[in-house]
Amino acid sequence: MALYKYGEHLRTSTHAAFDEQNEPGAAAAHAGIYRCVACGDEIGIAKGHTLPPQNHHQHAAGLGRIRWQLIVYAQSKG
Ligand SMILES: [Zn+2]
Repeated sequence: MALYKYGEHLRTSTHAAFDEQNEPGAAAAHAGIYRCVACGDEIGIAKGHTLPPQNHHQHAAGLGRIRWQLIVYAQSKG
């Protein structure tokens, strides 16, 4: 579970990017925090960098495969 202290730096969004489940090894379309939908593991990543591959972490049998879902979208002023 991602944590934060100061709520004024985060706000709710209905952006479609939050609904996508991304394959391991795919390029991250957005910078931010991604969560594995099967086990809850979280990673931070820059835009365009490669989402961790299938061997990044191991799932117990029956847990399902790794899929990365954006949970916090980092907005760059660049
Ligand atoms: Zn996982």
